[in-house]
Amino acid sequence: MNERDSEQVARTFVEGGYTLTRDEQEADAILVNTCSVRDQAEQKALGKMGMMGKYRETRPHVVYGFMGCMAQSRGEELFERIPHLDLVVGTQKYHRVFGYVDDILRGRMETRMDEVGPEMSGQAVEEEVGPVGLVRPVRRPDQGMAVGNRRHVCDTAEEKDSQNTIRDHLHDGPRQASAFVSIMQGCNMRCAFCIVPDTRGKERGRPIAEVVEEVKRLAGRGTREVTLLGQIVNLYGRTEFGKVDGKSPFVQLLEAVHEVDGIERIRFTSPHPIGYRDDLVAAFTYLPKLCSHIHFPMQSGSDRILKAMRRPYKNEKFLAICDRMKAARPDLAITTDIIVGFPGESEEDFRETVECVKRVEFDNSFIFRYSKRKDTPAAEMDGQLPERVKEERNQELLRIQGEITMAKNAALIGTRQEVLCEGPSKTNKERLSGRTPQNKIVIFDGDRDRMTGEIFEVDIEDSTGFTLYGTPQLR
Ligand code: SF4
Repeated sequence: MNERDSEQVARTFVEGGYTLTRDEQEADAILVNTCSVRDQAEQKALGKMGMMGKYRETRPHVVYGFMGCMAQSRGEELFERIPHLDLVVGTQKYHRVFGYVDDILRGRMETRMDEVGPEMSGQAVEEEVGPVGLVRPVRRPDQGMAVGNRRHVCDTAEEKDSQNTIRDHLHDGPRQASAFVSIMQGCNMRCAFCIVPDTRGKERGRPIAEVVEEVKRLAGRGTREVTLLGQIVNLYGRTEFGKVDGKSPFVQLLEAVHEVDGIERIRFTSPHPIGYRDDLVAAFTYLPKLCSHIHFPMQSGSDRILKAMRRPYKNEKFLAICDRMKAARPDLAITTDIIVGFPGESEEDFRETVECVKRVEFDNSFIFRYSKRKDTPAAEMDGQLPERVKEERNQELLRIQGEITMAKNAALIGTRQEVLCEGPSKTNKERLSGRTPQNKIVIFDGDRDRMTGEIFEVDIEDSTGFTLYGTPQLR
């Protein structure tokens, strides 16, 4: 979701005349989109931003900003932690980042021009700060904007309909085979370990027609696969849109996206057991573009721990949904999220989680060792476990899941799998990478320009546990 939000912000800068750079030393504005899910992520973002302050010594105009969940939850306090910080923008304000940065930069450039006097030509400034000198100024008096040398901007207020502003994509690279589409923001659940309801606000869905328009634009540019994003995606629209013919707004949306020509694959992440009803299970029987994979967070296999986590369902319900989904789609892959070492988790609770992993045989699991998240109820709970216990449980579950994953992938050697080619492999740019409908990564050789964005079959010849290798069968 953060990746998608960052793409939206980047797009507004490109439209405003800026260019994107991966080299922070040449950047005129450095923005860090932050995650608050774990304290560790916040510490990393703070450390990185602290280190980057050194660029201001040689390039005093550089604008530094935090966006996203940590910006939302910490607000003004961040300016005390990071003295060179200029901007803190919350999760409902991504569409305002460009205006804020552009105004601050312009203010600094104007100040510098005044200070230097007539000896400094406009040309010299443009050369020094690159495209920034060429963009159109944006002024928003209603925002109480800081335009000047060292004033800062903090905007973490709620904004009605902000969910509708995450809708544009970058199109300056090669064909984008697969794209994320944000369909909602926020979450009304209150899981005891999670900060998201505080940082992202209440559930707010985008209208179906707007999502479909975005998907059509993507399809028109050659995108073949979309992943619909929401914190609690299957509950999309429950507070805004009604059921039609007994179908939830989410299933109505899936049906509408399914109609878009050019889109061949549809995924979504992440669903919650609450609200995972028969209409969604049934959709997998009559919507063939729905991929045979769900990422379905289990969190714990113990009812006692689920209750402590404030996850309002029993494990039996989670397992029953997995069974119904496998019946609807026999080739379905299921991946999950699991927290081990939650406060009060006994050895017996942990064994129940292990049993569930073995029973469902997840294709993969993201296993997290519980770590305290400030400002969440779980951080204050009794029964916090020693790190050693958490680590042992983590390692044991990783080993069990690793064995299941390796066995499942090894079983695919000798089969032919449908793959959507996404482009060069991240680990070896000489080779290509794609995914099966079950979301398994396949590496193969081929012509990048011709094959990226195409769907074809690949003979699977090898597996190194988590990755498959094969030879494409091009017609
Ligand atoms: S459902 Fe997901 S996003 Fe919502 S509170 Fe629980 S873990 Fe957080």
